[in-house]
Amino acid sequence: MTTLADYRHLTSGKVRDIYEVDDELLLLVATDRISAYDHVLPTPIPDKGRILTAMSMFWFELLADLIPHHVVAVDDPRIPAEVRGRATLVRRLEMLPVECVARGYLTGSGLTDYRATGAVCGVALPSGLVESSKLAEPIFTPAAKAELGSHDENVSFEAVVATVGAERAEELREITLAIYRRAADHAAGRGVILADTKFEFGLLGSTLILGDEVLTPDSSRFWPADGYTPGQVQPSFDKQFVRDWLTSPASGWDRAADQPPPPVPADVVEATRARYIEAYERVSGLSFDNWLG
Ligand code: ATP
Ligand code: MG
Repeated sequence: MTTLADYRHLTSGKVRDIYEVDDELLLLVATDRISAYDHVLPTPIPDKGRILTAMSMFWFELLADLIPHHVVAVDDPRIPAEVRGRATLVRRLEMLPVECVARGYLTGSGLTDYRATGAVCGVALPSGLVESSKLAEPIFTPAAKAELGSHDENVSFEAVVATVGAERAEELREITLAIYRRAADHAAGRGVILADTKFEFGLLGSTLILGDEVLTPDSSRFWPADGYTPGQVQPSFDKQFVRDWLTSPASGWDRAADQPPPPVPADVVEATRARYIEAYERVSGLSFDNWLG
């Protein structure tokens, strides 16, 4: 029987652990770790790794006619039982060093850049936009991956051209926006706004492949469509309970002091878990009870 110890551990991000299976395959393991306000919380959310893996798989399949993806299997003897349901066996790609972000709404670093310059990543926007404004058209706002612990940095389209060449840069912009549109339309039909999202692509030979995780709450902003009100920060579909608790006096956490966040109480953990499941089930129309585990 395969165990995780059979594979070499390559790296760990805030939320995922990566193992090498062989020269051609990697095992991406989604953990139950959760981050908020740029900190990994000391308390895991049970099943979060399985829920996000299920969600990514749902989207990879929905998008398969637009772009090939890196997934080889989620149910396979090469996947250790201990991580079944939250591990993905993927083709090892030569990753392109561009975080391909699409935004349909203005918030976060996009809003910050807009307020400073009237543009995001060099894409000029009309004046008068506010927090959470819907954009007339979705825009491609690439970012460069930052060192662990710091924020990805928004870059111009020209910077992407300088990194991967003009033709590949155009391709990345077109496919990123096409995937965003497809996903946002699907989500809208299910009462969810996909405000923005980030993709990572890689190459197999010269073929462009969609890698990493896709359209999960960790790579995207999902907002409930009912109650959407431009001019204010929208509640996050999944993390709002944790965020609200963390910033309430009850948590005792001083965000500004950059302390590590305190352990999360059981009721907040349970409410957050329920929201992640709801996000998956609402977006996919599938029951989480039927997912691998
Ligand atoms: P963060 O926690 O901020 O996301 P991170 O991006 O370094 O940090 P992860 O997202 O956990 O951490 O790491 C996933 C890594 O695996 C990324 O560097 C991503 O580019 C890479 N990756 C994803 N899919 C593939 C693939 N098919 N082949 C090779 N590398 C991949
Ligand atoms: Mg990442």
